[in-house]
Amino acid sequence: MSAVSFESWGSADTIGPSCQTLRFGDFRVGVDFGAAVKGEQRAPIINGRLDALFVTHGHMDHHGMVPCALREWPNLRVWATFETKRFMAWAWDDQLRICATDGKEPPFTRAEADLALRRTRAMSVGTTIQLAEDLTVTPYYAGHILGAVSLLFCYRGEYIFVTGDIGLLDHWFVPRAQPPTLDRCALLVRESTYAGLRWEQARDEIEDDLVGSILEVLCGGGRVVIPTLAIDRMPNICQILRQSCIGKDWPVWVTGGVEPTNIYARLAPEAAWLGTVNRFRSSWHEREVMWSGKPLVVIASSGMVMPHTPSHRWVTSVIQDLRSAIFMVNYQDPTAPGGLILKSKLGERIELEPGSGRTRQRLCAVRRFDLSTHAKEDEMAELERMLNPDLIAHVHGEGDRIQAFIDAQTSGPQRVRTRVGQEIKL
Ligand SMILES: [Zn+2]
Ligand SMILES: [Zn+2]
Repeated sequence: MSAVSFESWGSADTIGPSCQTLRFGDFRVGVDFGAAVKGEQRAPIINGRLDALFVTHGHMDHHGMVPCALREWPNLRVWATFETKRFMAWAWDDQLRICATDGKEPPFTRAEADLALRRTRAMSVGTTIQLAEDLTVTPYYAGHILGAVSLLFCYRGEYIFVTGDIGLLDHWFVPRAQPPTLDRCALLVRESTYAGLRWEQARDEIEDDLVGSILEVLCGGGRVVIPTLAIDRMPNICQILRQSCIGKDWPVWVTGGVEPTNIYARLAPEAAWLGTVNRFRSSWHEREVMWSGKPLVVIASSGMVMPHTPSHRWVTSVIQDLRSAIFMVNYQDPTAPGGLILKSKLGERIELEPGSGRTRQRLCAVRRFDLSTHAKEDEMAELERMLNPDLIAHVHGEGDRIQAFIDAQTSGPQRVRTRVGQEIKL
């Protein structure tokens, strides 16, 4: 199968903007064209031509630079699921709005974003797309978030499976991944966010723990701030609190992430009620509630407490209050404000706006609840058994963790740690 090769152009051995390519003879396919979640916005740099691009799901680190890809390759054919297209439209719009507010040069123009959306064709799970004479691709449910898919490529009778971000456990609104069962697969490109890590607690136990901890803070007169990713995590936390009935005795507010939550309300099964969550009437109303200091729960985007976001405002408001708590429910980049808070000790001073020189003492409680929808190693082992790969390329994970995991394997398929721009030939 020497005519096939794989390369990673982003997020090879980091959890950063994702971008990979597969070469099938003369035909070259891209999988994802992501943006950095924080810091400098730069499109992935791919050497050579690209014929088709598939977007696996609606997180920015997988699709944030797609408009730039069309600038580079005007004839590029792009595919995404209907749900992913909705998230792309919202996220690009949001990106342009944030750049305008901050007075920064956006990575693409509004016209380029509109063009990229028009040019993105909708793909459906289970429907095979013929890309070239002897090349097809079929999307499979990937779990993770609404509309996320993994991709099964078939070239001259050989299979290649690319996971994208994948989760093999059911969670609210999104059922688990449903990969195919294969006799053999030449290559599995798997995300490795949690390479080598297993679940320490069952998901429902973690949810119970979160609810119990919230009640403890509320009963003590404190406020609970839950910074969340707008896509998927915010609807999930809303649903967990709804089941708990906390809202009957205490106010539960949701701020930020309006459009992603509405996309869930419209498109996810049993999520329609998300269209009626408790939202502030205006920014003045939000400030009024904030300054009242009364016990409440606030579910606020962004997940990493980035400056100028609702979660940043609320975190700033409770961080010096001994009775209050910040509960983290998603991945934290160690250098983002959320990461700084998570690793801080009680009483330590934190720079919530990195580089500003202004610090605040952290006096509230801080805890992390692992409600991730990325597969851990128990789930990945199941996936690998279903696919029977000859070779596994690890991407989208922290390099040292991937290396340690590969080194610990004594049997099973061959595994490689990938590096940006390094070609893996089959
Ligand atoms: Zn993702
Ligand atoms: Zn990702």
